[in-house]
Amino acid sequence: MSDSGEEKKYTGRIRVMAGRCPKGHSLMSDEVLFNGENAVALEVRLAGKSGMIYLNPFYGIFEFRSDLNLEKGAVVELFCPECETSLAIDEICKLCNIPMAAIHLPDGGQVEVCPKVGCHNHALKIVDLDEQLERMYVSETKFQM
Ligand SMILES: [Zn+2]
Ligand SMILES: [Zn+2]
Repeated sequence: MSDSGEEKKYTGRIRVMAGRCPKGHSLMSDEVLFNGENAVALEVRLAGKSGMIYLNPFYGIFEFRSDLNLEKGAVVELFCPECETSLAIDEICKLCNIPMAAIHLPDGGQVEVCPKVGCHNHALKIVDLDEQLERMYVSETKFQM
């Protein structure tokens, strides 16, 4: 048993492989890659302009490309490029006090990101169906102003 210098891969890193909008459209880019993997492609709007933003699909890496000039501190809106459904959710970024956006995952989980450029607050939620239903139930019966 000798150490043959195993290649270091992204072991232990979570990658968004099949991100979807709430209506089920794929948010994965065919063209833009980060580290050889398909980027997450979203429509981005800022100050009346719209463009595309491509996110590094590895969870925890805050790398992106956009055809809009996104300066630190700008709060963007994120949409599905296909159906233009907003990805904003009720969850509030505790650092910026603005609604987060979510990329849905096929297993019922979601990646939540803060839409403020430069804010690194994000969360990964992996839930099973029962938990997800419970979450929906709670949010529907909780009336808050
Ligand atoms: Zn869509
Ligand atoms: Zn934030």
